[in-house]
Amino acid sequence: MDAARRSAYLSALGVDEWRLRRPADPIHAVATVQLAPTLPADGAQGAQGAQEVPPPATRSAATRSADETGAWAALRAEVAACTRCPLHATRTQGVLGVGDVHAQWMVIGEAPGAEEDRLGEPFVGRAGKLLDAMLFAIGLKRGDNLYIANVLKSRPPNNRDPAPAEVAACRPYLERQIALIRPRLMLAVGRIAAQNLLGTTDSLARLRGRVHHFGELNTPLIVTYHPAYLLRTPADKRKAWEDLKFARSVYRRLTGEP
Ligand code: URA
Repeated sequence: MDAARRSAYLSALGVDEWRLRRPADPIHAVATVQLAPTLPADGAQGAQGAQEVPPPATRSAATRSADETGAWAALRAEVAACTRCPLHATRTQGVLGVGDVHAQWMVIGEAPGAEEDRLGEPFVGRAGKLLDAMLFAIGLKRGDNLYIANVLKSRPPNNRDPAPAEVAACRPYLERQIALIRPRLMLAVGRIAAQNLLGTTDSLARLRGRVHHFGELNTPLIVTYHPAYLLRTPADKRKAWEDLKFARSVYRRLTGEP
């Protein structure tokens, strides 16, 4: 999509336009953004150490088989009928996720809110509109090489933080999603998602600006702000934009895409 249409799209959403201050330069983007040090104390790899996850053999069309379709159907049915934690009693429906099941990008948030609980899709409320605009600004569209999910599949009452037992009960669903999608890059939005995915209590400030790795596949994972936080704190949109440019540059380096 050209710049004018992108601009119109962002302005229609009523959000500040997110644009590069200089021409996109994938080679220098990692080096030029203002980031936290790239060698964290916990041994997670920094930007310069981002490893390419080899494209799994299963990514070929031929082996994306009926098994996979069956696995998704089973997962969807299990989440719909899930009673593993008390949230099933107050939710309207389980919200598994949305998007391209062969996506190379996977965005993971915290939990469904009221609108998501009602409509059965992640990030469809106000925060979701901002998330769409943020992702659009780096060339991503819902459903197109992008899958969106949450740590929790059920809405916590009054949007309270997820309880550790709820996260633990839901974790196998998320792990199965990730194993099926095998994204090349994961983007955790918000402190809760990031801390739960990475098993840390580090602050968001500490987690931003470097490449972490998730799970057995060692999938590169980058952390940024939650769009709901950005709606409350627009001054931090600039930092989130740095995160997104960073994510895009890491993705390009991992995939060799221009
Ligand atoms: N916030 C989230 O973290 N996820 C959603 O799906 C909606 C709001």
